[in-house]
Amino acid sequence: MMPVLPEDIFQIIFEKSPGSLLVKADIPHFTVVAVSDSYLCITSSTREGLVGKGFFEAFPDDTGFDEDTNARNVFAKVVHTGQTIDVPTYRFDVLNAATQTREVRYWSCCNTPIFDAENKVAYILNTVVDISGEVKAKEAALESENRLRLAAEATELATWDLGLADQTFIYSPRLAEIFGHPAEMEITLAGIRGQVNADDMENIVIKAYHNALATGHYLYEVRINWPDGSLHWIKTQGVVLTNENKRPVRMLGTILDITESKRDEIRKNDFIAMASHELKTPLTSLKAYIQLLAKKLSADNDSFVINALAKANYQVNRMTDLIHGFLDLSRLESGKLQLRTRDFRINKLINDNIGEARLMGPSHIIIFEPTEEIIIHADKEKISQVIGNFISNAIKYSDRGTRITIESKNIDSNLQVSVKDEGIGIKLKDQEKLFQRFYRVENDRMKNISGFGIGLYLASEIIQRHKGKIWVESREGEGSVFYFSLPLTA
Ligand code: ADP
Repeated sequence: MMPVLPEDIFQIIFEKSPGSLLVKADIPHFTVVAVSDSYLCITSSTREGLVGKGFFEAFPDDTGFDEDTNARNVFAKVVHTGQTIDVPTYRFDVLNAATQTREVRYWSCCNTPIFDAENKVAYILNTVVDISGEVKAKEAALESENRLRLAAEATELATWDLGLADQTFIYSPRLAEIFGHPAEMEITLAGIRGQVNADDMENIVIKAYHNALATGHYLYEVRINWPDGSLHWIKTQGVVLTNENKRPVRMLGTILDITESKRDEIRKNDFIAMASHELKTPLTSLKAYIQLLAKKLSADNDSFVINALAKANYQVNRMTDLIHGFLDLSRLESGKLQLRTRDFRINKLINDNIGEARLMGPSHIIIFEPTEEIIIHADKEKISQVIGNFISNAIKYSDRGTRITIESKNIDSNLQVSVKDEGIGIKLKDQEKLFQRFYRVENDRMKNISGFGIGLYLASEIIQRHKGKIWVESREGEGSVFYFSLPLTA
């Protein structure tokens, strides 16, 4: 091996150092004196192509981003000021030798002056680090953030991000607007929480928050007060993010202003309430006249007339039930459905309901053979409404002459009432939706059966308010059993 001379050692060190280039301060050429291997690699160039050449001969397209990052300006400035100049992000086009295509790369550069004996800048040491990967990742992240922001803005959604440990709160400007403030105003979590209606905070937000910690999903609709005194509605949706120990650490999601659709709903409810209320009065007097007539004519023993009047009375009762149903619906939606609870015997109530159903004539065989007396504390009228709905549905959705079996039992301190029919049955996919508002199964047989799809929705709300359960077991074509259960110890 040849011995290495001391001056060669510096040459070798320079050539092995990361991303370094030494140019003479000979404006405007900036002749390249030495270059390191990694600089050659970063710039896809060769030592022969660089050393001894002017820097801008080797890199003619070297323009940077702007005046401040343009290499010609930067080098000249180093020479004139004698100061080190950093260019944190420097854009550069290089030819990829493998693909023969030009590609954009990003460097972080440092230009350090090296002085001669007269303290004049003699050389510039240009060191570069290739940061293309970082810059491109940042650009991609920014782009996807912009895309998300645009989508959120287009749908008028506000976005938010809450750190659970330190309650750090990051949000989009739209959030301030949704709470009635100018978009640029800085808002705090405590501030907007203070705008939520106090009842909704207690009954909805806090519950939704605990539910989110358990399930990972956050969802609620609440009323908020704007600074100008007006009332608005918002819908919040979000997800909970957990750490590696599965502990919740962040929540993020969206908020939407739903005031308009809520106002429509309230207007619709008010209309239903008003119309139902107005219909009640003429119907009550119609019922009174039918009963009066029935009393008067019962002495005549004209079975046709008596029968016709019984049917008229039944139809008036059905209409009254429907109107009550609509009234209940609107009360329920506006949070005004009240329970008036007392003790009563459930079997007597079931028998009363069966009696009413039989008034329509012996279309079905209704079987009810209770084995024990059960006293329940609940709202008698409302529970009667649920039983009446189960029985009238059983009649409506099964053939004449088939059996309807009703049972009431005490199971583990719960009253369980069931109404079984041998009718058309219900597909599994419809079963879970039956208890939703206005849901009716769609099939040919249903076309001829009247109904609004609110009976079971009301039944389910009534039972839930009694802290009970309601459910159905059924198979298409094989009949259905509708159940409800109520705690007896409440
Ligand atoms: P309505 O009977 O007025 O449509 P309900 O809320 O009482 O409204 O019932 C909702 C839907 O559930 C009905 O439209 C019907 O499709 C289905 N359903 C209810 N009870 C039965 C039953 N016993 N057998 C079959 N389908 C039923």
